[in-house]
Amino acid sequence: MATFIVLLGPPGVGKGTQAKILSEQSGLVHISSGDLFRENIKNQTELGKLAQTYMTKGELVPNDVTIAMIRERLHHPDCKKGAILDGFPRTPAQADALENMLHEFDGHVDVVPFITAAEDILVERLSARWTCRANGHIFNEKFNPEKEAGKCDFDGSELYQRDDDKAETVKRRIDVYLDQTSPLISYYRDHDKLVEIDGMQSIEQVTRDLLNALKN
Ligand code: AMP
Repeated sequence: MATFIVLLGPPGVGKGTQAKILSEQSGLVHISSGDLFRENIKNQTELGKLAQTYMTKGELVPNDVTIAMIRERLHHPDCKKGAILDGFPRTPAQADALENMLHEFDGHVDVVPFITAAEDILVERLSARWTCRANGHIFNEKFNPEKEAGKCDFDGSELYQRDDDKAETVKRRIDVYLDQTSPLISYYRDHDKLVEIDGMQSIEQVTRDLLNALKN
């Protein structure tokens, strides 16, 4: 049976950073809904054009569009063993859709690490965040700087600041999270899947806690 790990937590808490590390260590593919949308924006697809209108405002892309995109992605052969889902589901309707999809794929959500941090830390982290153009690797001016200014440590590509990491949009993204995504905390707690992880610790310590949560 395929194993799916859903990473839950507010924007800026470190889901993307940790998903990349966990993917390397577990061999499960990392699927980031935000990266998939950004890829579509880069390629100027119809999906990308639509998604961009929501993303620049810090709003969620509509459920039907997002669910269809993830469904398509999960059909790729690299998801046969499962995947680490980063940024999906983000609403109860998406969580229900995921359950239904996984029935089809003979998969199940194994564990849902819920990474937490105080709101002021999230704002500070997001406004100092730099992202790699080629593969979405994440750096932070203050907490996790790149070795050579402006260049990704992993693939040498250019680092840029995401439009939606601007202060006003960050605030909206956090409100949207509290309003639309935080109901998933009780959803997965009720399903006995939730494991809380303190995201204010070092990157290495958060990884250790995550690996422990996955082992148990
Ligand atoms: P992220 O890279 O996860 O911070 O996502 C960036 C933006 O993409 C979000 O602010 C949303 O506009 C959009 N997005 C990503 N994942 C989803 C999702 N599961 N549902 C709706 N919109 C999403």
